[in-house]
Amino acid sequence: GRGALEVRDLVEILDEASQVRAQSRRLEQKSRELEAATAELRAANERLQELDRLKDEFMSTVSHELRTPLTSIRAVSEILLDAPEIGADERQRFLAIIVKETERLTRLINQTLDMARIESGSAEWHATELDVRDVVRDAVEATSQLFREKQVRISVTAGADVPPVRSDRDRLMQVVLNLLANAVKFSPAGDGRVEVRIGARPEAVQVDVRDNGPGIPREHQEAIFERFKQLGDTPQGSGLGLAISRRIVERFGGRLWVESAVGEGSTFSFTLPLDPRQATGGEARRAAG
Ligand code: ADP
Repeated sequence: GRGALEVRDLVEILDEASQVRAQSRRLEQKSRELEAATAELRAANERLQELDRLKDEFMSTVSHELRTPLTSIRAVSEILLDAPEIGADERQRFLAIIVKETERLTRLINQTLDMARIESGSAEWHATELDVRDVVRDAVEATSQLFREKQVRISVTAGADVPPVRSDRDRLMQVVLNLLANAVKFSPAGDGRVEVRIGARPEAVQVDVRDNGPGIPREHQEAIFERFKQLGDTPQGSGLGLAISRRIVERFGGRLWVESAVGEGSTFSFTLPLDPRQATGGEARRAAG
């Protein structure tokens, strides 16, 4: 009869209603997912725009930095060309400028390419097990001329038990050379003092390069690790050395930082983590000893 039909209708309606509710819950869920995906896309897009901006900034800094030495090379060459009667002393002075600026340009180009290779991931890394003390010794030897010329004293102290680390020897050498070159560059001529310490931490080897130069104001202590960042006038500098060094150290799981105060010199330090197997060996040795 009519009553039975009504019940059936009711059941059908209820059934449909619950389907609609389920459907609407699914839709709600989908719409939440869409919202999340949209937010992610928006964030990714913002990151891309930021990267694009950084790249533009990088490119314009690079071209500016490269143009500066080129401009002076060109100016001085033109003077030499246009003034054949120029005296020997002056000619020598101009030629020295050309040589110096050419060296600076070469260094800039090499470092810029190096930075680009590291950032794009196309740099090659050859990690081997090595003793940091050997690398420091080689770097000190390679820079000994710089130290002699400026009469800056250098001392190296190393712990007796410095475990080996895994790193790229040439790259690590590049880091230490850069820190030593900066230390001697900023130390006072005549009574400059640079101290290198190599020590073993529980999980890392740490190298400290301390100088008695002018120090670095706190507000600049992070910025100097950015690309092309220099404080004041730094002759012969590119502002890339520390940025590259930090990337190298981080590539091998370490850290590079500075501790400094104006008038009290600077200490640049980096760590390289121990090979986990070596660390265990060290622990065992220590426990046994
Ligand atoms: P640069 O080739 O200009 O030395 P770096 O990246 O090696 O480039 O250094 C960046 C800047 O950090 C330098 O221009 C200088 O202002 C500062 N700096 C680096 N090392 C020292 C130091 N030992 N003492 C004082 N300032 C330093």
